[in-house]
Amino acid sequence: MTDLSRPDTIAQTAARPEAKPDAIAPPLWLLAELTYRCPLHCVFCYNPTNYTDHSRELSTAQWIDVLREARALGAAQLGFSGGEPLLRDDLEVLVGEARQLGFYTNLITSGIGLTDTRLDALKAAGLDHIQLSFQDSTQELNDFLSSTRTFDLKKRVAASIKAHGFPMVLNCVLHRFNLPHVDKIIDMALAMDAEYLELANTQYYGWAHTNRAQLMPTAGQLQEAEAVVNRYRKEIGERCKIFFVVPDYFETRPKRCMNGWGAVFLGIAPDGAALPCHTARSLPGLTFPNVTDMPLREIWYESDAFNRFRGFGWMKEPCRSCDEKERDLGGCRCQAYLLTGDPANADPVCDKSPEHEHVVQVVRAAATRTPAQQITKEQPVLFRNDANSRRLAAAGDGHPPDHPVSRGERT
Ligand code: SF4
Ligand code: SF4
Repeated sequence: MTDLSRPDTIAQTAARPEAKPDAIAPPLWLLAELTYRCPLHCVFCYNPTNYTDHSRELSTAQWIDVLREARALGAAQLGFSGGEPLLRDDLEVLVGEARQLGFYTNLITSGIGLTDTRLDALKAAGLDHIQLSFQDSTQELNDFLSSTRTFDLKKRVAASIKAHGFPMVLNCVLHRFNLPHVDKIIDMALAMDAEYLELANTQYYGWAHTNRAQLMPTAGQLQEAEAVVNRYRKEIGERCKIFFVVPDYFETRPKRCMNGWGAVFLGIAPDGAALPCHTARSLPGLTFPNVTDMPLREIWYESDAFNRFRGFGWMKEPCRSCDEKERDLGGCRCQAYLLTGDPANADPVCDKSPEHEHVVQVVRAAATRTPAQQITKEQPVLFRNDANSRRLAAAGDGHPPDHPVSRGERT
């Protein structure tokens, strides 16, 4: 499941026991990616393109150990994600355990499999919150982008979530195809009584990176969509809180990715690999420790993977001597790798990066491309599915850098 929530926007709702009083702060947010399996095939999915290489899943008992260790470390916020977490039939057991431990819990789901029976069970287990994804406000585009017929089912699930009294975030990933529908997407969220709407402009990792040429919007599309969002915000006030984050490629300074490497976020992949960000698995030269081999405390405080990009010591120029480095921490390591071939480089979104021109070229190419309706004919999108994943994995294309030198210009 695409999860674009940011640690800095999440309320801290529980006490944090055993916080360790040294330089490294304990994790705040635990993301449990229970499985990479998913009934949908979204073209922008955040999961690794070679996810079929990592098909092993932790057992229920192993997940419970993870929850206990993470809570003891100080984590307070817990997202159950995937893939589709409802494909795990122990989800209710894990939610119940998380509740006992004092986590604030969020289910991040496509809605497929969220029956009234499971909603009853999740309510009884103590689930706090549900984030439901849509791909668009129209059946045609929703079903095309996920390569399924799920739009009507999702609408029924949204009504059931509200009928069960859960607070609901509607999440919709935005890109060239659906940015012109932002007003209709907001209308849909209002009609469904969503408390929050996350209009998450695509970030180009995983499958979205593979489909970047097709998904990249124009600056004009983004400006128009943002104006629509601001108009609605004035009109609807507190009725539904709308998040709208401009994609990195259109900025000249990077975001403080995950609020810092190994700072607040701890992700656990389905096979137990511990990750400092959703997409860190793509980075070369790092071995991510597994919760089945090492205690979580040791992973967080002592492992090379979690310490590699903490602080400022790893930085190269221009970040090393930059007077803005405390604000953005040099940006995103995965983006630096994907676009420059070296994760220790400045995020090339930054216009001080010598590689910033590459980002500019991608944006410029999007401005001259044909309308979205024609893209699929000229340049077919690659759907997230097992066959495509195996093909990409076999080609060694798990998450390739597109540095112009190493890959040739792909724009
Ligand atoms: S395919 Fe879609 S629904 Fe499934 S994990 Fe990926 S983004 Fe989420
Ligand atoms: S040079 Fe590095 S630290 Fe400075 S603003 Fe750019 S990305 Fe941030």
